[in-house]
Amino acid sequence: MAASDESESGEALTVEDRLMLDLFEPDEEPFIIVDTALCQRCVPKPCLYVCPAQVYVWEDNQLLYNPEGCIELGACTVVCDRIGEGAIRWDYPRGGHGVEFKYG
Ligand code: SF4
Repeated sequence: MAASDESESGEALTVEDRLMLDLFEPDEEPFIIVDTALCQRCVPKPCLYVCPAQVYVWEDNQLLYNPEGCIELGACTVVCDRIGEGAIRWDYPRGGHGVEFKYG
């Protein structure tokens, strides 16, 4: 294992460790827009499980999402149960905005 994959104590970095090292330049223009009314009829809610950055959470019987921590995988659009109905409109942040990966 390369030294950059380890913490200072020599332990392997977790996904959460790596995410905390990424830098973000927030885009004030929304690049993820969710029609949360459609989410009310979505039973499996796969977006809650696929996103390593936990952009999507289910709280108080509604979908909440925070694009600020988005690492731009787009996995949510692949698994969304109602993408065909336009549940998620997703695009990359504008140039100069978004995530800057520390570990590629
Ligand atoms: S998978 Fe799509 S429709 Fe279902 S809760 Fe997530 S964003 Fe909403």
